[in-house]
Amino acid sequence: MPLRMSTLFVRTLKEDPVDAEVASHRLLHRAGYIRRSAPGIFTWLPLGLKVLGRIETVVRQEMERAGSQEVHFPSLLPAEPYQKSGRWEAYGEGIFRLQDRKDADYLLAPTHEEVFTLLVKDLYSSYKELPLSIYQIQTKYRDEARPRAGLLRGREFIMKDAYSFDLTDEGLDESYRKMRDAYVRIYDRLRLPYVIVEATPGAMGGSGTEEFLYPSEVGEDTYVRTAGGYAANVEAVTTVVPDPVDASDVPAAHVEDTPDTPTIETLVAASNALHPRADREWTAADTLKNVVVAVTHATGEREIVVIGLPGDREVDLGRAEGTGVLGEGEIEVEPATEADLAGLPQLVKGYIGPGLSLSEPLLGLESSTGLRYLVDPRVVEGTRWVTGANEHGRHVYDLVYGRDFTADGTIEAAEVRPGDPAPDGSGELELARGVEIGQVFKLGTRYAEALGLTVLDENGKARTVTMGSYGVGVTRVMACIAEEHHDDRGLIWPQPLAPADVHIVATGKDATVFEKAETLTAELEAAGIRVLVDDRRKTSPGVKFGDAELLGIPTVLVVGRGLADGTVELRDRRAGTSTDLPVDDAVAAVI
Ligand code: ATP
Ligand code: MG
Ligand code: MG
Ligand code: MG
Repeated sequence: MPLRMSTLFVRTLKEDPVDAEVASHRLLHRAGYIRRSAPGIFTWLPLGLKVLGRIETVVRQEMERAGSQEVHFPSLLPAEPYQKSGRWEAYGEGIFRLQDRKDADYLLAPTHEEVFTLLVKDLYSSYKELPLSIYQIQTKYRDEARPRAGLLRGREFIMKDAYSFDLTDEGLDESYRKMRDAYVRIYDRLRLPYVIVEATPGAMGGSGTEEFLYPSEVGEDTYVRTAGGYAANVEAVTTVVPDPVDASDVPAAHVEDTPDTPTIETLVAASNALHPRADREWTAADTLKNVVVAVTHATGEREIVVIGLPGDREVDLGRAEGTGVLGEGEIEVEPATEADLAGLPQLVKGYIGPGLSLSEPLLGLESSTGLRYLVDPRVVEGTRWVTGANEHGRHVYDLVYGRDFTADGTIEAAEVRPGDPAPDGSGELELARGVEIGQVFKLGTRYAEALGLTVLDENGKARTVTMGSYGVGVTRVMACIAEEHHDDRGLIWPQPLAPADVHIVATGKDATVFEKAETLTAELEAAGIRVLVDDRRKTSPGVKFGDAELLGIPTVLVVGRGLADGTVELRDRRAGTSTDLPVDDAVAAVI
């Protein structure tokens, strides 16, 4: 059935929404695709749902092609699985929590790793059943600190989330590659340019991850790129520093605006005083390394942290024990378990210097990606580069206490300087902005271990399953498509995603014009072309053309004055061109 402007539930608007920051939000609102319900929460109108449906179709087709099967979970979930994985706590204020009439805790799921893991545990028990890939397209809830820019950062949004289950690392690599390939096809088909950047795993845990970014000034992510094709997330690239760092590699420009800049000499002296080595003195050529420990706070909360220490020894987890002070609070430190380590991203499995004393006051750091570190402030004060490594040979570069992070624990900025050489030697780095439209993740065994997902291998031995998770921000993608495909008069949808294939505009008062518009509509629909027909009798041509431009269907067929001479006008919304053609050729021209 054609869509009819005379009855379509839509109201086009002249006014931008008050909080409009970006074109996609402005245009989707004014064209009557979405209405705001609350900050970051939107109602979908018929035209919006059509486009959303087409995007979902592309995503579904590519998921099926990649061998993933669709399932559907509730949004409303019990807290327990998330408590087991540690994310009930870790999400902090970022999730919506609620209680039922019996006071049991629930949440509106921000993402579904835990329950996918449990579903597979419930149904599968043998290695013969793996690999498995399952996905859903589903509503997610996150109480974002700053919902903004319409669909770009919502508090309720639609995500496609897929999960892979494998027995071996090689299996996971293969599942990851398949999903990554599917993402390339999805964004190509959605006509969205993208860069793929290496990212840091953050609170998710896991061993390797890449983000798909839509390059755009409206994005909240900063990434670096080179003309030679290199691209990386800023967090990932700041940590790329050859190991060991030579003091002469630290440019003076980095420290000159910092009052009381600590020197390398101070660091070395502090390291020698706090953590003396048996074999020789620390020198400026030594780097800071990590130890991973489990910290229990006075409140009972347990977290896994990476402590940066100077050193070059393999970690001896048994040594990392004791009590300490973090901020105002007492903490207890115990060795991290193998399960803890598996949950940490890209982890160097630890280095520690001799003489670690955890009775010293420790400073907590939390990076913007959710990684947490403890650093001895006396070492920090004396350092020009502080550990933040999450992989062997990688260190946050040149952080300066007070400038880049503060005692309350936030890292303000881990700087990348445009002009620095790219780690792959492909040229000089330049900064760019982008919107994260998807992310692929090698989770490893973190969730399987926390929730006990094992299968029996060929020897009848229980083995922990290794997992991947893969997200596409479906509603965010729709906003990005609108960002990419519009002009100052309205939206211009890529043809396969448009709410209709052709927009027929009947103008004037002549009954034969409206009759012809109906005949063309019927013929086109019969040929499988989806038509939106502007059959409003009392609306002026100016208003109709304005609406057609705003709504953004790429092909517009005008049936009007020319009909008396046997012609209609075919407009290409994107090119801005128009051609008169004999009315009898109209159907063939549109098909
Ligand atoms: P961001 O860094 O933008 O907050 P994220 O890394 O927290 O995103 P993921 O957990 O990786 O998001 O979720 C997978 C995908 O879901 C993201 O790549 C993004 O496209 C989309 N997404 C995440 N948060 C939102 C949101 N608040 N509104 C709309 N889409 C979102
Ligand atoms: Mg987020
Ligand atoms: Mg992100
Ligand atoms: Mg992400």
